[in-house]
Amino acid sequence: MISVYKFGGSSVADATATSRVLDIIGVKAREGRLIVVGSAIGGCTDALLAIAEGIAPSSRPESTALLERHLGIIRRLFTGAEREAASDEIRSLFDEMLAAPDDEKVTFGELFSTRILARKLAAEGFRTRWIDSRKLIVDGQIEETYRRIREAVQDPDIDIFVAPGFIAGTPDGRVTTLGRGGSDYSAALYAAAAGADALCKWTDVPGMMTADRRKVPAARTIPFLSYGDAETLALRGAKVLYAPAVKPAMEAGIPIHILNTFCPSEAGTVISAAPSTGVAEWLGVSAKDHTIYLTCSGDGTLSSHTTGMASGENAAAIHYAAARLEKILRAEGIAPKQVRCTERGVEADVKESVENAALLAIHREFFETAPVDTVDLFIAGAGAVGKALVDLIGRSRETVEKRTGKALRILGIADSRHYAVRLSGIRPEEALQALGEIPGISPGMTEKTGFVEEVLRVAPKGAVFVDCTDSTDIYHSYTALMEAGLHVVSSNRRSLAVPFVEYAAMKAAALQNGVFFRHETTVGAALPILESISRGANTCDEVISIEAVVSCTLNQILGEYTPGGPSFARLLRKAQESGLTEADPRQDLDGRDALRKILILGREAGLPLEEADVEVTPLIPEPLDHLDLEAFYKALEGMEPVFAKAFERAAAKGCRRRFVASIERDASARTGYRACIRMADVEASHPAYHLRGTENAIIVQSAFHPYPLVIQGAGEGARQAASSILNDILR
Ligand code: ADP
Ligand code: ASP
Ligand code: MG
Repeated sequence: MISVYKFGGSSVADATATSRVLDIIGVKAREGRLIVVGSAIGGCTDALLAIAEGIAPSSRPESTALLERHLGIIRRLFTGAEREAASDEIRSLFDEMLAAPDDEKVTFGELFSTRILARKLAAEGFRTRWIDSRKLIVDGQIEETYRRIREAVQDPDIDIFVAPGFIAGTPDGRVTTLGRGGSDYSAALYAAAAGADALCKWTDVPGMMTADRRKVPAARTIPFLSYGDAETLALRGAKVLYAPAVKPAMEAGIPIHILNTFCPSEAGTVISAAPSTGVAEWLGVSAKDHTIYLTCSGDGTLSSHTTGMASGENAAAIHYAAARLEKILRAEGIAPKQVRCTERGVEADVKESVENAALLAIHREFFETAPVDTVDLFIAGAGAVGKALVDLIGRSRETVEKRTGKALRILGIADSRHYAVRLSGIRPEEALQALGEIPGISPGMTEKTGFVEEVLRVAPKGAVFVDCTDSTDIYHSYTALMEAGLHVVSSNRRSLAVPFVEYAAMKAAALQNGVFFRHETTVGAALPILESISRGANTCDEVISIEAVVSCTLNQILGEYTPGGPSFARLLRKAQESGLTEADPRQDLDGRDALRKILILGREAGLPLEEADVEVTPLIPEPLDHLDLEAFYKALEGMEPVFAKAFERAAAKGCRRRFVASIERDASARTGYRACIRMADVEASHPAYHLRGTENAIIVQSAFHPYPLVIQGAGEGARQAASSILNDILR
């Protein structure tokens, strides 16, 4: 697999910037092959044009300064003989430039910069080859260009090909250029020809933004753009991307990443065939030739955020926006010459002198009124719950953004064998595929174990680590994650049912690091149980008792069971077959799962409960752990009369049998509360009496609530768990 990295003039403006570029290239080149396309160093092309036009008298000062800049970079990057050789090469290229016809002088900037880059990469030990775009890119002949490039980058023994951007050859062999900003187009041609997995444009801003940041400091990165939308913005003055670069990438289906050389871990913008997801209802505001463009996405809706908007409504929305735009311009004292509505948004012609003021005002009105925070997610676990979560994020992203002002973005995902991390964001639709076929998704998608280590290395502060695994030891990482500034949301019950000191340490780490640690899903899936208990505890309400009927499996079986009907063993087997039990159904009977839940409940209420504080009476009188599964079922069948009798006795009293975990005040107990798990007869007036199917019920009695708080409802299901996790993330 080969990737294309393009560095703009802003990224190679001086030695410091060039060192960053070298670092970025180095990291990538250790993973796979690379074509690096370089622009001239910042300002060089303008200087060459000035030299060619002879603007400076005999152009001497201009050219001396330009040569000096390049030599200065060489002095910083090389030592000894390397320095001499590099300086000599640039000096002689300079002489060539001065001797060249005026209209060819401008083509030398990319030669200077890429020769230096290629030399330095070779000196660092990469198998590097400089390739000559003047011979490979034939102006106006795409097929021939692709053929030549493919041949040129075939050699598998080369790690990095370095090519000058911007310059090309004419069919008759003269040198030419691809237009100002054309290095982006060169890079796209290289990417398409080589079948690259990604085209990364490294520049001085973190992506395509809602406006030009130099004019509108509050501009924000647009995370995802469709090819068409990116091209539209580029054509309308968003000069971060040269519009012609879009087509070759789009035709070859190659995603374009716009990334920031000065902050490589920032997510930037991903441009692909998928619809745009902006940061507001509108994509951006830009200016070109004294026309200001407020642009919406081109998929027929105002943007992908205003889902379900019919085209008639869309036109109405654009008209409304035009009126709003005119009003705010007038409020700024700007009288637009003309305001037009088009299907891509609103256009206003303004005087040059007020262009920047107009951009600022329009941006403020359309992009700064509804702040959107990006919530970055790393998801561990791609089982039923992890999958449901990813799916839910995909489906509810826009709603979430509209309702909460938070934009969800997955930066990493892992199952037990692979992980994928991409700081520019992984679309929910590709996230699960990313795990299956890690190659092909880049940059930064890597296949190894050690997801947590990678998260610790790259995660931005304030990201959320989501544990949807059922790993018994992942909790050891929680503290380190929180210390690194990540929030933790866990649906992994095992992580919370650890010894109390460890539980308390995790809670303390969250507090001390100013992050949240939430795990509502660990008891009763989507039911707001822990939140309700902690609300009481936060406000000094004192728990009198908690009763929890929270085993979905047992609730289902006990609800179905009637003496004389299918035996308990039969029902358990049925539950196992429909995936309702643990892999080993004995675990559902021995109370271990209920034990974890009651520990979590008690601790949330402020009690330092330990396993040893809980008296567990398993559902079956003797442990059958030593048997194989078939023998176990047989033994269970043999206990049928015991079950039947207990049920008959309960029925005679007007009661039903339920598996209840409870905590109640008991001054003689270590924690001041007695905790137990057992089968109990519940009366018709008890909330658990009427439970249906896998339903859960929690009954909390507290000092402030003379009538108990009852929370009852569906206590399981991957979708419910996912919704609970998402709410923990957003809360
Ligand atoms: P490079 O030299 O890397 O090709 P350019 O200078 O051509 O970079 O483009 C980057 C510049 O584009 C940024 O510094 C920024 O000021 C400008 N720009 C204009 N509009 C936008 C926009 N909508 N989003 C991001 N950058 C923009
Ligand atoms: N160096 C050329 C320019 O300044 C090409 C580029 O940077 O893309 O226009
Ligand atoms: Mg450019």
